[in-house]
Amino acid sequence: MKKKKLGLTARILIGLFLGFITGIVIYLFVPEGMIRDTIIVGGVLKFIGQVFLRAIKMLVVPLVFISIVNGAAGIGDIKKLGRIGGRTLVFYMTTTAVGISIALLVASVINPGQTDGLDLSAVVTQEVEINEAVPIVDVFLDMVPTNPVSSMVNANMLQLIVFALLIGVALSALGEKAEYVSKLFSELNEIMMKLVSFVMLLAPIGVFGLIAVTFANEGLDAIYALGKYFATVILVLFIHAIITYGGILKIFTGLSPIRFFKNFFPAISVAFSTATSSGSLPITMDVSEENLGVSKNISSFTLPLGATINMDGTAIMQGVATIFIAQIYGIELTFMQILTVIFTATLASIGTAGVPGVGLIMLSMVLQSVNIPVEGIGLIMGIDRLLDMTRTAVNVTGDAVCSLIIAKKEGEFDEAIFHGENSFNENKLKPQINIANEPAN
Ligand code: ASP
Repeated sequence: MKKKKLGLTARILIGLFLGFITGIVIYLFVPEGMIRDTIIVGGVLKFIGQVFLRAIKMLVVPLVFISIVNGAAGIGDIKKLGRIGGRTLVFYMTTTAVGISIALLVASVINPGQTDGLDLSAVVTQEVEINEAVPIVDVFLDMVPTNPVSSMVNANMLQLIVFALLIGVALSALGEKAEYVSKLFSELNEIMMKLVSFVMLLAPIGVFGLIAVTFANEGLDAIYALGKYFATVILVLFIHAIITYGGILKIFTGLSPIRFFKNFFPAISVAFSTATSSGSLPITMDVSEENLGVSKNISSFTLPLGATINMDGTAIMQGVATIFIAQIYGIELTFMQILTVIFTATLASIGTAGVPGVGLIMLSMVLQSVNIPVEGIGLIMGIDRLLDMTRTAVNVTGDAVCSLIIAKKEGEFDEAIFHGENSFNENKLKPQINIANEPAN
C-alpha cells in the first residue's frame, strides 16, 4: 500500500508543533552548558531555522523589484494603477485604525496594567532604545530615492517600490519599443517564483528550527508574569483577524473567511515563525497567487506595499501596550490623547520596518506623543518575541485580505483557484523533483 503524502499545510503544522515541544523540553530539562547552548540550540536548531530564514530573505529585494516592475507594466493603464494604489492605501490605513481602536477599547475594559503584586523592577530587564518622532514631511520625502542602487543595497522598501513602479509605468508607456526588456522582466519573475517554490520546500523543517530556538530560549515563564497584558494583545489580534478581516472579506467579496484562512495558512505560519513580514514576502506573494487566486498584477503591487506600510498587528500591540503602561504609571488618558494614539500608531505603522521587534521601538514614538514614560517599554520587552510572531502573522493576513478584495473589485481574481485544492506549489514541484505522487490535501 502506498503511503499518503502529507500536504504542505499539514507538514508545516507538524513542524510548528514539534518545534514548540522540542523548545519547551530543552528549556525545562536540558541544563545550560556547551551541549545545550552551542551544539543543540546555538548549533543544529539555529542552523536549520536560519538557513530557511536567510533563503527567503535572499529573495526579498530582487523579488520586490522584479515583481513590481512586472505588475506595473502589466496593469499598463496609469489610471487603473492610480485607482488600485488609492484603494490599497485607504484599505490599509482604515484597517490599521480599526485595529488600534479595538485594542484601546478592549484594553480599557480588561485593564491589563491593574495587576496586583506586579513587581516592576523584576520585569524591567533591558535598556530602552528611544526612537525620536520623524516629521511627517520627511516620511513622504524619504520615499523618493536619490540613488536607487543604494535603496536596493539597504533594502529600503518604499524607495524600491517607487523606483520599480516608475520603471514599470515607463515600460508600459514605451510598448513595443521596450518589448525585450518587458519580456526579460516577465521571465525574471518566473525565475523568482520558481526560487520561492524551492525555498518553500524547506518550510516545515525551517519553522521547526525557528520555533524550537525561540521556546528553548524563552520558555513560558515570562508570559506568566505579564499574563494579562500578553492575553489582551493575543485576544485583540484574534478579534481583529477573525471579525474585522473575516467581516470585510465576507462583505466585500462574499467569499468564505474559513476557506481564506485555510488557503493562506502556509504564509501565516511562515510569518509567525520568522516574525518578519518583509522577510516572509516571497511566501506571502506566492501563497496569495497560488492558493487565494489573486492575480500577479495585483499581488505584485499590493503585497510589497502592505509588507512595508500595513501593520495592523503591530498597531494593536501598541494600543494595548499604551494602555498597559499608562495604567502601570497611574496615568489616565483623555479622549484627545486616545485619538492622538490612534493617529500616531497608524502613522507609525507606515514607518515600521517589517522586521522582528521594530514595532516595540516604534512604540516609543506613540508613548511620547501622549507623554507616557518611554521606560515602560522595558516592562514588556521580555515577552515581546512571542507577541511579535503573532502580530506579524496578523500583519501579513491584513495584506492578503486587502489584496484579495482589491483583486475581486478589479476583476483580477481567479475564483477557481480560491475554491480549488489547497495545492500550494506542490503540483509545480512534482515533475522536477518527483516528491509527491498523490494529490495534496
Ligand atoms: N515584526 C513585525 C513585522 O515584521 C513588525 C513589528 O511589529 O515589530 O511585521
